[in-house]
Amino acid sequence: MQQLCSFSLEELKAWMEANGEKSFRAGQLFEWVYVKRASSFDAMTNLSVPLREKLRTHFSYPSIKQLRVLESEDKETLKFLWELPDQKRVESVLILSGDRRTVCVSSQVGCPARCAFCASGREGLMRNLSAAEIVEQVVHINLHLAPLGERVSHIVFMGMGEPLENYEAVVKSIQLLHAPEGLNISQRRITVSTVGVVEQIHRLAKEELKVNLVLSLHAPNQHIRKKIIPYARKYPIEEVLLAMDAYFEETKRDITFEYTLLAGINDYRTHAEELAMLLKDKQCTVNLIPYNPVDGLNLRRPEKEKIEEFRAILEERNINTTWRYTKGKDIAAACGQLALQRVPPQ
Ligand code: SF4
Repeated sequence: MQQLCSFSLEELKAWMEANGEKSFRAGQLFEWVYVKRASSFDAMTNLSVPLREKLRTHFSYPSIKQLRVLESEDKETLKFLWELPDQKRVESVLILSGDRRTVCVSSQVGCPARCAFCASGREGLMRNLSAAEIVEQVVHINLHLAPLGERVSHIVFMGMGEPLENYEAVVKSIQLLHAPEGLNISQRRITVSTVGVVEQIHRLAKEELKVNLVLSLHAPNQHIRKKIIPYARKYPIEEVLLAMDAYFEETKRDITFEYTLLAGINDYRTHAEELAMLLKDKQCTVNLIPYNPVDGLNLRRPEKEKIEEFRAILEERNINTTWRYTKGKDIAAACGQLALQRVPPQ
């Protein structure tokens, strides 16, 4: 059985024709899933009963099952726990901010990058998600928003996993999320975050997709970076930055560098000065993220004054910075806190 949400409209048209159906039925099916927010084949009432039966025998929809939704105290962050067809579990986060409805999707079960501060990477990679398993996170959250008359407006690939290590499925999912006949989410509103898989950054730059790219930098030099992101040993920091420059040249999208501040590790004055030198003359923003505690990790968040000093040093040297206000800490939905879930849902 194939997963319905891995199919583009063109692929569904081809399937309809190959299965003795009119190709316009594919448009109706696509509309049911992405626009009319049907939760199952049964709800697709302008498709005949025999066609719905045929679809049911060929395609799975939905492919992932919602197990639990947690809401933060301020009600601005919701964390969704999904069960995949093989009973593995991943999470997504919905962030409500003004008019924005941003979904942070997972792209893998576990993560190969094993960043020192992150819950997701602690057990390494278990498997890649399919394009459908990525897309359905957004489709089902859209369903959740339907009674409020709202829909997902932005997508960030910042949940569990390193998106560029699941390249084909991630690119396909972006194409599906962007499809004008479907969710029609602008490429400008889709952001991919990577620890810096150099060859895949170059490849992404050549795609027709002009999505925003964020580099998880987290250090001002290769020595510290290797400690924070073990995966970064494969990719010297200079090569990663050159790849980001190439992405900027090709797409003209602004570049963002994420920098998780860890007390005593990468938060000294000298680190801020070194970082400013490293990024000198780049058209970029540095997003400072004070570390979010993860159970079992012996790491600390710097004091507020230290964070402010770090930021001031960058700004004095004309590096544009933001200090990300962390949402969803009370439900472990903040950056780096999504973990492999094995416990049964409450
Ligand atoms: S921070 Fe991102 S890239 Fe690093 S281990 Fe966690 S999920 Fe993977």
